[in-house]
Amino acid sequence: MSGTFVGMPAFPEAAHEAVNNQTLRGNLRHATHTIRAKRAKAVTEVSDWAELREAGKRIKDHTLRHLDRYLEQLETSVTAAGGTVHWAADADEANRIVADLVKATGESEVVKVKSMATQEIGLNEALLEEGIHAYETDLAELIVQLGKDRPSHILVPAIHRNRGEIRDIFEREMSEWGRPAPEGLTDTPAELAEAARLHLREKFLRAKVGISGANFMVAETGTLVVVESEGNGRMCLTLPETLISVVGIEKIVPTWQDLEVFMQTLPRSSTAERMNPYTTMWTGTTDGDGPRDFHLVLLDNGRTDTLADEVGRQALRCIRCSACLNVCPVYERAGGHAYGSVYPGPIGAILSPQLRGVTSEIDASLPYASSLCGACYDVCPVAIDIPEVLVHLRERVVQGGEVMSKGNKVVLKPAKGHAAERAAMRAARWAFGRPGALRAGQRLASRTRRLHPRSLPGPGKAWSGTRDLPAVPAEPFRDWWQRTQGGKDGAK
Ligand code: SF4
Repeated sequence: MSGTFVGMPAFPEAAHEAVNNQTLRGNLRHATHTIRAKRAKAVTEVSDWAELREAGKRIKDHTLRHLDRYLEQLETSVTAAGGTVHWAADADEANRIVADLVKATGESEVVKVKSMATQEIGLNEALLEEGIHAYETDLAELIVQLGKDRPSHILVPAIHRNRGEIRDIFEREMSEWGRPAPEGLTDTPAELAEAARLHLREKFLRAKVGISGANFMVAETGTLVVVESEGNGRMCLTLPETLISVVGIEKIVPTWQDLEVFMQTLPRSSTAERMNPYTTMWTGTTDGDGPRDFHLVLLDNGRTDTLADEVGRQALRCIRCSACLNVCPVYERAGGHAYGSVYPGPIGAILSPQLRGVTSEIDASLPYASSLCGACYDVCPVAIDIPEVLVHLRERVVQGGEVMSKGNKVVLKPAKGHAAERAAMRAARWAFGRPGALRAGQRLASRTRRLHPRSLPGPGKAWSGTRDLPAVPAEPFRDWWQRTQGGKDGAK
């Protein structure tokens, strides 16, 4: 398996293999059900959860509405605190900035804190092309990296692996990357964690450059916040001499008071904890304490295009808690890899097609990777109406129009495929706009119903082969209503 998602097929095809893999389904079912039950308990402990959820939504919406202002404030604050801010329009630019910064230090190794943004832009692969080795230090990310695998969950990237598989990966791969796995390693969690700890320790102590993302950026002081559970983040953020943080522009909150809301909702929604085990916050640089150089790379990469879509922009509220993945019946069966992106599950189904556009096969298929049951919306701590965005994106795919910003204009970009659906929708619009023609058509369909084929010809055959075409009634509904209810309740 390759380490990237490039060239993934459409969701149905990619999900097919996962659905038939019993081990994978067992691993996913066990893990998601365990986390979901714990989360539900942690949330019910908080009497004002609904108010916190609403507050989080409002803060994020307000910030997104005034994003330009808060980003400028953040840049000023970070710069005043001794940091340097870089702006990256897309993945290539961000990767180039980071590679140049690392090369300027003369180093060829970096340690990394788990970061969705750096996975989104394929930073590890880009650095490797420049001869720079990036070592993931989060336990699950380490498992993914050693296994030359891809992440399949936002919070637990190796959720598709069981303990036996992890032991095999450690035994096979650790010696290739550094300190080998201990002799006679078993699959008990304590032994696996100790093996990872020993393997990583030498990397922490050697690394001169750390790379991170951030969960939040506070505009008023220029403070960045990373929340994590293993302490590896604390090591990466404090030991190296140079720290480079790559962060999506939507991760900003205006004030510390705003941050307080998310520090309550994020741990309970993600790991079902009352508070986070390790919360590291830093503001620029401080003499004699922590990294001497701090660089913040602010990443757009499709976010301003997403902001241009009035319905879809709510996806930018996401705080990456992963609660929506853990309750999703589709994710539970299809697994994370089928979503063809570092953002799997319900949030991936609405975020990836917006960040990347719905022009590829995989991105045009993602809005359909849902039963629209709404469980994701119910658990989302920032109340993202994922089903609403899914339906909206389906409309964009079917209409063949992709909303794109061009300069200061919003334009429709034509998409390929779905010509038959578009033609059907155009015909429906024409008929529903002409009641007389619709009535005549319904009567004709009723009179000729015995002549209707039981399956569709041509390309429609595959569709009707697994479905029964609905029987056309002998009398259209309107005629029946007129005959039985005519004159009542205003019926005509
Ligand atoms: S969409 Fe909501 S529930 Fe899903 S990861 Fe983002 S914040 Fe969490």
